Amino acid sequence: MFVIDCPHCGPRDQAEFAYAGEAHIARPANADELTDAEWAGYVFMRRNGKGLYAERWWHAAGCRKFFNMLRNTATDQIHAVYRIGERPPEVKADLPRTPSGEASIGSGNDAVKLVRDTGAGDA
Ligand SMILES: [Zn+2]
Repeated sequence: MFVIDCPHCGPRDQAEFAYAGEAHIARPANADELTDAEWAGYVFMRRNGKGLYAERWWHAAGCRKFFNMLRNTATDQIHAVYRIGERPPEVKADLPRTPSGEASIGSGNDAVKLVRDTGAGDA
């Protein structure tokens, strides 16, 4: 269990909220001109990375409003919550290198890739 600080209501138990997908997915302006593959990409394809991730949440059992959250998907640490329409705040997150030693290929953990690409993780 963790506590989510709703930007409209304040801190509440996670059970009151529902995950609503990746944040900041803009609807295409030219929707009538998209191919089926392009439309499927807009509807279904998400980054789904490991680490800091912008998510949309819904306070289903509270104010029933949507808001955005910057959360580390590896640790569940919440770095920021902000209202719809606001820009995500700059955060300095200590992203986990990787507790499991996962391969850089196929890993969604961009922080691990950065460390490995620079050779800084070869200790
Ligand atoms: Zn709320």
